[in-house]
Amino acid sequence: MKPPSSKPPAAKPPASTNGNGNGNRAGIGMTSARTRERLIQRLRDQGIVNPAVLDQIRNVPRHLFVDEALATRAYEDTALPIGHGQTISQPFVVARMTEALIEGGTPGKVLEIGTGCGYQTAVMAPLVRFIYSIERIGALLQRAKAQARELNINNVHFRHGDGFQGWNAHGPYDAILMAAAPLAIPEVLFGQLAPGGGRLIAPVGPEGRQQLVRITRRGDEFQKETLGLVSFVPLLKGLN
Ligand code: SAH
Repeated sequence: MKPPSSKPPAAKPPASTNGNGNGNRAGIGMTSARTRERLIQRLRDQGIVNPAVLDQIRNVPRHLFVDEALATRAYEDTALPIGHGQTISQPFVVARMTEALIEGGTPGKVLEIGTGCGYQTAVMAPLVRFIYSIERIGALLQRAKAQARELNINNVHFRHGDGFQGWNAHGPYDAILMAAAPLAIPEVLFGQLAPGGGRLIAPVGPEGRQQLVRITRRGDEFQKETLGLVSFVPLLKGLN
């Protein structure tokens, strides 16, 4: 009798080449230049004007941040699941927030709360000096770190932590960007904003009724602008 076969299955796909399980998918059709250009045109139509921001959306390979099964949808203007009940932000919202963040000058230090898969981080990275990025889900943070390394992004410090506390050690920040929505902005974050024009961009409110707001600090004064309705996952307490 023949022993049970221990042969590996035939026609196994080649092992992943980029260390994150995504393989090298640069060549697939739906991630082509034309597909990306359609997305850029859509963002322009919706009012995104900053050419540096549009270039980043065009150049950052969003398909590498999502599961292979979703790669063909990576350049649609929509949020997509990234596991752990979280989503990669919608390109329009990433562009809008990045635009609002760099309007009025290149920020030196940016605190990002809610790294997720690191897509927003990658879009912002060349447009600011340093990013300090906090994520409460350890597994997502590890993936984001690996992806940043893969893309040669070297100006980001990552931390497994709770954004409700901010990251005091590196403050004050020229900008704070929140990628998850609190019901009200945690008080401690105001104190971590640079007094001379530091700005905080955040979705605020309960699920289904969030406003994107920008708070600008001038000394002890905090000026608030609203930038429109958005839909984000909630800011949650504690680590995971
Ligand atoms: N912009 C990200 C998507 C962020 S989704 C991207 O492009 O992928 C929001 C993220 O905020 C989730 O990963 C969630 O785990 C994280 N988050 C929620 N509450 C948090 C908190 N208190 N501190 C840090 N991260 C938090």
